[in-house]
Amino acid sequence: MHDREIDQVRATKKPIRGEVPFEGTNGRRIYDYIFVPVIGADGEVEAVAGTTRDVTDRQTMEQELRDAGRKKDEFIALLAHELRNPLAPIRNGLQVMRLAPDDFAAVGEARDMMDRQLSHMVRLIDDLLDISRINRNKMELRRTRLLLADVISSAVETARPAVEEAGHDLVVSIPGSPVYLDADLTRLSQVFSNLLTNSSKYTPPGGRIWLSAEKRRGEVMVSVRDTGIGIPPESLAFIFDMFSQVDRTIERSTGGLGIGLALVKGLVEMHGGTVKAESDGQGKGSTFTVTLPVVAHRSEHAPEAADNGQAIAGSARRVLVVDDNRDGSESLAMMLRLLGNEVRTANDGVAAVGLAESFRPEVILMDVGMPRMNGLDATRRIREHPWGKAIAIIALTGWGQDNDRERSREAGCDGHLVKPVDLPDLEKLLAELLPRKAAG
Ligand code: ADP
Repeated sequence: MHDREIDQVRATKKPIRGEVPFEGTNGRRIYDYIFVPVIGADGEVEAVAGTTRDVTDRQTMEQELRDAGRKKDEFIALLAHELRNPLAPIRNGLQVMRLAPDDFAAVGEARDMMDRQLSHMVRLIDDLLDISRINRNKMELRRTRLLLADVISSAVETARPAVEEAGHDLVVSIPGSPVYLDADLTRLSQVFSNLLTNSSKYTPPGGRIWLSAEKRRGEVMVSVRDTGIGIPPESLAFIFDMFSQVDRTIERSTGGLGIGLALVKGLVEMHGGTVKAESDGQGKGSTFTVTLPVVAHRSEHAPEAADNGQAIAGSARRVLVVDDNRDGSESLAMMLRLLGNEVRTANDGVAAVGLAESFRPEVILMDVGMPRMNGLDATRRIREHPWGKAIAIIALTGWGQDNDRERSREAGCDGHLVKPVDLPDLEKLLAELLPRKAAG
């Protein structure tokens, strides 16, 4: 197959290398070759030596790497754009508050808008952290035996504002008899709220969404169906891939990153299930079906988390807020003071240990990464003292990796929250911690 090349080497007395496609029994393959002349004593070409190699697989792999690199670059551009979008309205809102501090209606409106934009941003970032955790096998599920109905109602509650805003009709039907799963409530409801939110996004206003569940032998199939824009058949295959969006203008206007479905797939698989997408095509609606293993029925319910009432709102706790970002610590302190607590702030670990000793807080919200002394070392110092044992110390980080949780637990923290702190999360954690701490 290389006669032409060999002739050329003979004629030119120069080595050549190159690639040729070859149609063989294994289909189309690519070979690379290198031929060099063997020159005799008389200066003539005595022979031609060379090698050829099948490089099809290597080339395919290189192409895949290039594609992945390009996708990542595109994703970073998209990410920067999506993260910047909410900033303009937030800054405008601040300006409104500055210009018209006494116009309560305007201030209220600006505040609600800022809250919405900020929540959107937090959601994007949470999704990113989640998908990176899944991809690095760092996601930890807190599995318990729970009812499918609880998962669905939590998902519906999350997705309802989006569904209602778009004027869709949502119909939920699940089996009358209880279906038990061994699952992480938060993570699994995230799966269904993502699917419901997508159906809501990709369905023109006034559409219909059905969420239905059907129990089969050993498993339950939960499907989310909509009357939306549908998915072209050629896109169905890659819709669950990270960063993938169907090439339509609508995706650009919905403010997504193209990781929602990758997250859905990752979380479902971690629960031992599968997910598939179906659509009859453009404008024909879509159906996403999640299949999950069910666990045997058990008559007694898992004990509900006790409702201990309010732990921090209106209960005048002594709280120390530690954060080297002064705006971060001051704003959190302000919020806690408005809720009736006595609050002090410190901006590094050394100051935190000193204030903990003089102020004797019941609760410390401790940032981890700080100059002078980090939050984990400060926690260790505080725990060395007899007065330091009864304090509920909650680590705050911007990075909710699971090994961070472990490290903060080892350092003596009682709990771990990811910034920005969500008041209900803090309440929930303290409601659990404070009685335990008080009991010693
Ligand atoms: P995002 O919604 O952020 O773009 P997702 O990973 O959630 O990312 O979804 C990937 C793509 O799948 C979307 O961009 C959209 O094109 C398509 N898609 C998802 N759900 C639906 C649906 N219910 N109907 C039509 N298209 C959908």
